[in-house]
Amino acid sequence: MPLLVLSCFALLVALISPGWPIVVILWFAATVALVATPVGRRIDEAKGNSAEERRAHAGDVRGVRAALSAIDMPLFLLDRDLAVVFQNEAALKAFGELTEGAHLSARIRSPGILDMARDTVTSGKVNQTEHFERLPSERSFIVCVKPLPVPGEARAGLFLLSFRDVSELRRLDRMRSDFVANASHELRTPLASLRGFIETIQGPAKDDPKAQQRFLGIMLEQATRMSRLIDDLLSLSRLELKSHIAPDAKVDLVPLLGHVTDGLKPLSEELGIDIVLHMPDKPVEVIGDRDELVQVFENLIENACKYGQEGKRIDVYLSEGGGKPIEVNVVDYGPGIPAEHVPRLTERFYRVSVEDSRSKKGTGLGLAIVKHILTRHRARLLVSSEVGKGAKFTVRF
Ligand code: ADP
Repeated sequence: MPLLVLSCFALLVALISPGWPIVVILWFAATVALVATPVGRRIDEAKGNSAEERRAHAGDVRGVRAALSAIDMPLFLLDRDLAVVFQNEAALKAFGELTEGAHLSARIRSPGILDMARDTVTSGKVNQTEHFERLPSERSFIVCVKPLPVPGEARAGLFLLSFRDVSELRRLDRMRSDFVANASHELRTPLASLRGFIETIQGPAKDDPKAQQRFLGIMLEQATRMSRLIDDLLSLSRLELKSHIAPDAKVDLVPLLGHVTDGLKPLSEELGIDIVLHMPDKPVEVIGDRDELVQVFENLIENACKYGQEGKRIDVYLSEGGGKPIEVNVVDYGPGIPAEHVPRLTERFYRVSVEDSRSKKGTGLGLAIVKHILTRHRARLLVSSEVGKGAKFTVRF
């Protein structure tokens, strides 16, 4: 402001002096330069009076800017009019570039955030809100506005607007609550059926031993289903607990696959399926946890038996590596899996057909368990399938 008064005074002097046209041009250029000084610099300059103070303050502001640039969270520095004085690299990536001095609303449209920032400017209070965006992708942020105190001044001149990305946290919350809802639903169904049969046996079927016998059979089936589900849930939670600890024992996959197929003989014979092993004639060792690997191949071969039984044959191939990754392929020749289901098969409780899975004593957790175990083993599960021709589940170490 004093600079403007000074420049007007200079204009007056110029007009009464003989060389006034040149002086007026110089005056005009100086005034334009003054008005065009970026907002950030004007704020910097406003903070110190002596040259030394100004230099120290400029150093401070440069330091603050450098520090804010290095923070991996979108941050804006605003002035009292909500004009953007500075935006860091993360803010640029998240919201696009804003020219210095542009109003915040040019990029942030949310009335909630703008009102909150205005309130902080007038009240000097720290404010915080949660902001959800649908486009370009679903994101949730905790948005916070804080006044930045200036030593020796009552009112803050600058305000820090920060966006903490909590999208991953919210996604995990949602997954957790979906999981609890799904697990409760899966348990509730057999429980309701058990209750119904108990009431029938106590009431209408009290004196009907034949009906009682039949109902008790169904009740046993439902109770077994519940304990299978609880076993799988416990397996999953145990795996989650140790997901960060990599296994360290050496396991030979040749005898392990032989052991798994022997264990599944009763099921394969009952369904009329031939399980054919294609093994190299030397050991194929991986670093792993034997019991967990047994669980992986049991799940995959059992699924091939249950869902691919029409094919009447399952091939299990073990490739010995030789510079390439060690792989186990479980191939069935059943109905296969439509492509749209393939990416979701390892989600908890995801089934192509719930009825089909239930009738085959499935819990919808088998492949989720497989995926967890393989992640702990730094291995991958790949699924390929052609509808009508069968499915191939590959474990790549
Ligand atoms: P479930 O306990 O239902 O078997 P899984 O997680 O093991 O659960 O498998 C999820 C779903 O993947 C199954 O319900 C089934 O629809 C499908 N699936 C798994 N393996 C096969 C296969 N070999 N052929 C066809 N569908 C399969």
